[in-house]
Formats: sequence, structure tokens, C-alpha cells
Amino acid sequence: MLRVIGYIRQHKAAFIGAVLLAAGTILAGIGLMSTSGYLISRAAQRPMIVDLFMVTAGVRFFGISRAVVRYFERVVSHDLTFKILLSMRIGLYRQIDSFSQKWLMTRRPGDLLAGVTSDIETLQNVYLRIVSPIIVAFLIGALTFWGLTFFSMNMAWVTFLFFLLNGLAAPLLMARITRGRGKTEVQTRSRLKTFLVDRLQGMQELSWMGQQQNSRDSFNQMQGDLDHIQRKNAGISGLAESLNNLFSHLGMFFVLVMAIPLVMNGEIKGVVLAALTLGVLSSFEALQGLANAFIQYENSDEAARRLFSIAENKEAAADNSVPETQILSTIPEAITFQDISFSYDGVTPTLKAVSFTLSAGSCTAIVGSTGSGKSTLINLLLRFWPPDSGKIMVGGSDINQLEETSYRSLFGVVSQDNWIFNRSLRENLLLAKPEATDDELRESLIHVGLEHFAHDLDMEPGTQGMRFSGGERQLLALARAWLTQSHCWIFDEATAHLDVKTERKILDTLWALKGNRTLLMVTHRLLDMDKMDKILVMDKGEIVEQGTHAILLSANNYYARMFNHQNQILSY
Ligand code: ATP
Ligand code: MG
Repeated sequence: MLRVIGYIRQHKAAFIGAVLLAAGTILAGIGLMSTSGYLISRAAQRPMIVDLFMVTAGVRFFGISRAVVRYFERVVSHDLTFKILLSMRIGLYRQIDSFSQKWLMTRRPGDLLAGVTSDIETLQNVYLRIVSPIIVAFLIGALTFWGLTFFSMNMAWVTFLFFLLNGLAAPLLMARITRGRGKTEVQTRSRLKTFLVDRLQGMQELSWMGQQQNSRDSFNQMQGDLDHIQRKNAGISGLAESLNNLFSHLGMFFVLVMAIPLVMNGEIKGVVLAALTLGVLSSFEALQGLANAFIQYENSDEAARRLFSIAENKEAAADNSVPETQILSTIPEAITFQDISFSYDGVTPTLKAVSFTLSAGSCTAIVGSTGSGKSTLINLLLRFWPPDSGKIMVGGSDINQLEETSYRSLFGVVSQDNWIFNRSLRENLLLAKPEATDDELRESLIHVGLEHFAHDLDMEPGTQGMRFSGGERQLLALARAWLTQSHCWIFDEATAHLDVKTERKILDTLWALKGNRTLLMVTHRLLDMDKMDKILVMDKGEIVEQGTHAILLSANNYYARMFNHQNQILSY
């Protein structure tokens, strides 16, 4: 919590201004009530109108200034809140951005979403509902006490007592009653969000499996839980408000009771009696938000804890033990895997001492059964995960030492599932090359055989590219890869779910566009294997065979069996 408050320190001037304005609003309220009380009492004595002139001016002044000061208080405090939110949000984004892919890939997206949206929004209460009300309560409490000492010391102490009851005892009681509820509310809300994001993403699957009703029921159940919690919390807030009212009026009542004898003795003029009691009543306004502050404290504390635990996750931080300063300026001669071993969970080995070299401009295919570790090799090459042991060298440097952006720009990747963003076709293509002109984008589409889309770059592909067929999505990914002008193309099952004709078309496009790029192709379908310089056959995390198509066929081993088996199926 202290660290959240630390963010306020960056906006000291605005903070002090907002607190002073908040206190000013309440002071103006006290002024308004007192002058009004005095005006009515004084008017009852039927003085000359001129005698009332100053008082009416006072009423007018406080009435208007209260509204004006409140307006500016709202403007400044909300501006401050949003500034604090902004710095927090940017800070959090930066942290998430620096996290390793390894960690991010194991996260539920809903958690992160909840983190950057609702948790941070909960924290906006820290200033508005917690810090500011407490300071203002202190200020007004002290001023009221000081003001009352001019009338009677006893009265000042009694009011002070009611300030304590109202500002400390009641909120503490409320906080006690609500303990644990704030936490449950935040957790329930976050669970609901995670659930919703997950189910929305998988909506199609849910409807295929006829599970919409089921999901709806689960959702209703969770929402019901949340409603229940929120209703209870609202009830408690209501109770807090009533207690506040009760103590405020009791406080006023006691002041009145104590003031009457003083008026009788002539120590206080009768005409100020109303002003005094009404002034005391409005000073209690400063305590109005305190019960809420105590309740909010727990909510915010929980949200802050979650946020900072995301932001400071040691495990998540990308391994920067080696500074990534080296910028790749020339096209590397070769990409070499040296004794790479890797395991996702630290228990089952996914890759076991894999070594191979991709020389510049060569074509390499990786084939092998499902789960043998082919995509994993690519994940390591793209630095999504660091290998457990061994090194990947690119142009003589360990890839960990290369600066990320220049390193990643080496590769154009077309995978089995390419994400198409729900933006225009143009924006989807510009991801690959932000400075490209429309003509270049059109050219890329024509190159990959998507000329029928070339005239309409503003077209919206829909959520996850739904308006494109599977094949068109692959071609679009190919167009992106082509646009990046990257040196090395990686195809991971890029044609796996396409029909034979489209697959042929994509492969032909690929060969036509390849030029002197290095190509790494993961595939189950052994097409165009004779064009490959090298074929790596993987099984259970190891390279069991390698060589050219002809050599592997004549070796009559694993690869030859795969190839013959496939041809048999095709000839049925
Ligand atoms: P396919 O031909 O089906 O695409 P693959 O050879 O590409 O298979 P990989 O994706 O490399 O296989 O997976 C190798 C093994 O690692 C599998 O047993 C898989 O379950 C496991 N694996 C893959 N990704 C992860 C992950 N993110 N976390 C944990 N285990 C994973
Ligand atoms: Mg794979």
C-alpha cells in the first residue's frame, strides 16, 4: 500500500492542491451553515436591513464558493487520480513487456487483463477514497477543535470525542465487519473475468459441443456469487453512512445542550447559538468518507498485492544475465544448434542434446511424429524459451546476447495458426513492415496469390480472421513473412490443414519467392522433399536420422518407412 502511495509523491503539487481544495469545500460548507444560522437568528431580532447586509453577503459568498471550490476539487483530484493510474498502468505494461515468453505463455490471459484493468481501477480509490479523506478529516478536526476553544474548552473536547467516534471507532467497526469481504470481492471478480475471456475465445468450440447452456449456467453462478458479495458490501456501506449521520447529529445535539447554559450565563450570545451548532454539524461532513476509506483499504490492499506480485515476479523476468547489446548487422552465415536440451516442466525432457546447422540460403526440413519436439526447436530458436543446456549460435554469437528486435527481424514465421488481428487487412500487413506503402502491401498480396483482396486493404477480417478461409490465412501469413524481408523463413506445418491444391499453390509460391533465404520447414507431409538440402528426422526429442531425401530413402530406415507409408495412403 505504501508503494501505491509512493506514486502520489510524483504529483506532490497536484496532491497538496487537491487536499486543500477538499478541505476548502468543507470549510465553505461550515461557513455557509454558520452564516445561514446566524442570519436567521439575527433576522428574528428584526434589525435594520443594513445590519444584515454583511451576513447575507457571507451566505452568498460561502454558498457560491462552496460550489466553485468543490468543482475545482473534483477536477484536480480526478485529474490526479488519472495521472496516477496512467503511471501505474504504463509501469505495469513495461513490466509485462519485459517478461519472458516462457512465463507469459503459462499465464491465463484473464489474469493479466484483470490486472491491468480492474485491479488498477480499484487502486484509483487509494487516493480518492483513502488518503485524501483521512488527511482532510485531520485538518477539519483540528480546525473545528481550535474554533470551539474560543467558546468553551469542554465543548471542544466533546466534539473531539464525537470526531473520534465518528472518524475512528465507527470506521474500525465497519472494517471489522467487512474484513475478508473486500478480498473475496476482488478475487471473485477476477475469477469471473478469467472465465469470461476463456469462454469467449472458445465460443465456437463451446457451440460445437453444445456447451453454451453449461457455460451460461457457470457464468450465472459466478455472477450470482459476485452480486451476493456486492449486495452485502453495499448494505454495510449503508450502515456506515447511517452511523455517520447518527454520530454527527448526536455531536451537534451535545454541543447544543452544552451551549444553552453558556447562553443563559451570557458567556455566548444567543444569536450565535444556531451558527455554532450548525457549524459543528457541517464539520462532521469531513468524516463522511472515512468508513468507506477503511473498507476500501482492504480492497485496494488486495489489488495492490496482486498487481505487485505480477509486476515483480522473479520467475517471469526475462533472463537478462547476459546483456543483449549485440546488434546483428550482417546476415549470419549459419544458424547452429549445439547440444540443445530442453524440458518444459523440468522433468520430462522434450529435446535431448540436439545439434544441427542451417547454413545460409539452405533448405532444411524437420519431420517426425507428433510431439517429437519440432515446434519446440522453433520456439527455442525464436527465443520464446531459453534452452536448459547447449547454445544456439547465429553468425558466431549466442542468440541470448543479440538485441531482441534486430534478432527477431531475422525471421519470418508462418505457423499452423497465424493470428489475424481484428483490424483492417492493411493494419494486419503493416505489422510486418510498419513503413510499407499501400502499393507494397498490394504487391505482397499479389505475390502470394491473394490478388482478389489487393483492391480492398480496408477490409476487416473479423475476430481472429474469421472472414478468411484457413488457406487464405496461411497466405496472408506468407505475405507478412514476405514483407518482413527477413533472412530466414520458418514454416511450421504451414500447409497442414489445407487442401492438396492450395498446399501445392503455397509451396510453389514459397519456392518462387524464396530467393537466397534460409528456409526451415517443419512438416508432416513429405512434399518437395527432394528440394531440401537436408532433412532432419526427429523422434522423442532426438534427431534419429539426417541427410538428403535420396540418402534417407536408400538408408531404408525411419524416414523411408514414413515416406512409403504416406505414399501408400495417398495411392489408395
Ligand atoms: P506436432 O507435430 O504435433 O506439432 P511437435 O513435434 O511440434 O508436434 P512440440 O510442440 O515440440 O511437438 O511438443 C513436444 C512436446 O512438448 C510434447 O510432448 C508437448 O506436449 C510438449 N509441449 C509443447 N508445448 C508445451 C508447453 N507450452 N508447455 C508444456 N509442454 C509443452
Ligand atoms: Mg508442432
